[in-house]
Amino acid sequence: MTDKPGESKQPHATDFLDIDRLLSDEERMLRDTVRRFATERVMPDIEKWFENAEFPRAMASEVGELGLFGMHLEGYGCAGVGAVSYGLACMELEAADSGFRSFVSVQGSLAMYPIWAHGSKEQKERWLPRMATGEVLGCFGLTEPDFGSDPSGMRTHARRDGDDWILNGSKMWITSGSIADIAIVWAQTDEGIRGFILERGTPGFSARDVHRKLSLRASVTSELAFDDCRLPSSSMLPGVRGLKGPLSCLAEARFGILWGTMGAARSCYECALDYSKSRIQFGKPIGGFQLTQEKLVNMMLELDKGTLLALHLGRMKEEGRLTPEQVSFGKLNNVREALKICREARTILGANGITLEYPVIRHMNNLESVLTYEGTSEIHTLILGQAITGLKAFV
Ligand SMILES: Cc1cc2nc3c(=O)[nH]c(=O)nc-3n(C[C@H](O)[C@H](O)[C@H](O)COP(=O)(O)OP(=O)(O)OC[C@H]3O[C@@H](n4cnc5c(N)ncnc54)[C@H](O)[C@@H]3O)c2cc1C
Repeated sequence: MTDKPGESKQPHATDFLDIDRLLSDEERMLRDTVRRFATERVMPDIEKWFENAEFPRAMASEVGELGLFGMHLEGYGCAGVGAVSYGLACMELEAADSGFRSFVSVQGSLAMYPIWAHGSKEQKERWLPRMATGEVLGCFGLTEPDFGSDPSGMRTHARRDGDDWILNGSKMWITSGSIADIAIVWAQTDEGIRGFILERGTPGFSARDVHRKLSLRASVTSELAFDDCRLPSSSMLPGVRGLKGPLSCLAEARFGILWGTMGAARSCYECALDYSKSRIQFGKPIGGFQLTQEKLVNMMLELDKGTLLALHLGRMKEEGRLTPEQVSFGKLNNVREALKICREARTILGANGITLEYPVIRHMNNLESVLTYEGTSEIHTLILGQAITGLKAFV
C-alpha cells in the first residue's frame, strides 16, 4: 500500500478502485473543501454534541458561507453545482455525522427545493437567498403520528376562509422542526394535497422536541402542531398538487442519502483498519488474523461498490435521466451496506467499539434513523419490486 492515492500502481486501502480519478478537478476541490470544514469545524465537537443531544444552530451561517445550502439549485443565491458535487458534499458531511448531513439535506432538498421547484416567483425571491446563506432555516413536515410510510392518509388539512387558509393538524419526527424559521407543511385540501410555507410565530403553531433519542442525537427532531393557523393565500406553493409534491422533494433528499451513507461507512472502515493495525492480541496486530482481514475486505468491497453506485447515479442525474426508482435502488443498497460496514467495524474495535471515543457506534446508531427516514428499506423494496414485476406492491 502507498501512503497517498495515485502515488503508484498499487491500489490504496482507502480508494482501492481509484474512484478519485473519475472526478473532475472542480469536484475534487469541492470535496476537499467540505472535508476540511467537516474535519476542522464538525469533528472536534461532534462527540460532545451527540452525547449532550445538542445541535450547533450557530454553524448555519458557516455552512451558508461555504455555499452548501441548496448547492444543487440554480439561481437565487444558490451555488448551482452538479449532482456529483452535491453528493460528494453529503458524503463528507456524513463522514463527520449523519445528523449534520441531515441538517444540510433538509435545508437544501426538503425546504429550499419545494420552493425552488413549486413556489411562485415572489416565494422564491423572498425565501431562497436568505435560506442559501443560512439566515433562514427550514424544515419539511410530511410524516404524522399515524401516517409514516403511507403519507397519503395524512389528517393535517387546510380549508379556505376568504383569501386565507386555516391549517389544523400535526406532524411528527420533523428534522430541525423547532429551530426552523419556516416549515414546508403538506396538508389535505379540497383540491388534494398541497404544500404551505408556514412561518414561525404564526398564532396556533407550536413545535416540541423529541427527547431520549439514541440515534441522530446531534440533530433536532420535533413534533409540529397546528391549531387554526391562519395562512395567507400567498403561502401556498402554487406549482404542485397531490402526493407528487412531497415525493419530488424526497427523491432529491434520498439522492443525498445514498452518497452520505458511504461517508459514514468510510469513517467506520478507516477507523477499523487503523485500529486493526495497532491493536495487539496473541502477540500480533489483530489485522494480521485472517478473520479480521476478511471483515476488512468485505467492508472495503461494499464501500467501493456503494461509492461507484452513487457516482453512477450522480452522472445519470446530471444527464437528467435518473428515475425515482433508481434513487430507491441507491438508497436501499447504500444504507443497508453502510449499516453492515459500521456493525462489522464495531466488532473489530471490540469493547472500544461501544464508546464515543471512536466514531463507530455513533455512526451505527445514526444509520438506524437513516434506514427509516426518507422511505424505509421495506418501502424501497416494494418500489423496486413493483418496478421490475409491473405488479402493484402497495395494495
Ligand atoms: C430521526 C428522524 C428524522 C426524521 N425527519 C423527518 C422529517 O424531517 N420530515 C418528515 O416528514 N419525516 C421525518 N421522519 C419520519 C420518517 O420519514 C418516518 O419515520 C418514516 O417514513 C417511517 O414512518 P413510521 O416511523 O411511521 O413507520 P411506519 O410507517 O409505521 O412503519 C413501521 C414498519 O412497518 C413497515 N411497513 C410499513 N408499510 C409496509 C408495507 N406496505 N409493507 C411492508 N412493511 C411495511 C415499515 O417499513 C417499518 O419497518 C424522520 C424520522 C426519524 C427517525
